[in-house]
Amino acid sequence: MADFFKKIGKSISDTSKNVKESVADSREKSALRRQIAAANNKIEQIKISIGDIIYGAYTKDDEPEDCVELCKQIDELLQNVEKYKEQILAIDGIKKCPNCGLEINVDSVFCSHCGAKQIKDEDTQNDSNDGDGYVDVGN
Ligand SMILES: [Zn+2]
Repeated sequence: MADFFKKIGKSISDTSKNVKESVADSREKSALRRQIAAANNKIEQIKISIGDIIYGAYTKDDEPEDCVELCKQIDELLQNVEKYKEQILAIDGIKKCPNCGLEINVDSVFCSHCGAKQIKDEDTQNDSNDGDGYVDVGN
């Protein structure tokens, strides 16, 4: 019987913890989505600049200015967008398989689509749950 109440208490505290986490998560996700929108806006602006340069050269019957730097800026922004998208997926516990690019669980040892072995990030050394699980029970 005591066990029963212990279980109920545990599941209640687990639930409230999850709710708190998901609020922080959704806040982080909307911040990332704003960054994606900002990057996409910037890309559109750069494309307009490139268009102006090309059309300006056409009307003056001239060689267009080199647009490589502007194109590189777009590449960089697109890479950032991909990173933001990956961060959003990571919040939901999903990552992309580096081999096939399909979405899998972050904890997967093997890809469920192509079977590729997943390499774990080495920078998560101190996430061992033995003993230090009570750290976040603050005031
Ligand atoms: Zn795969």
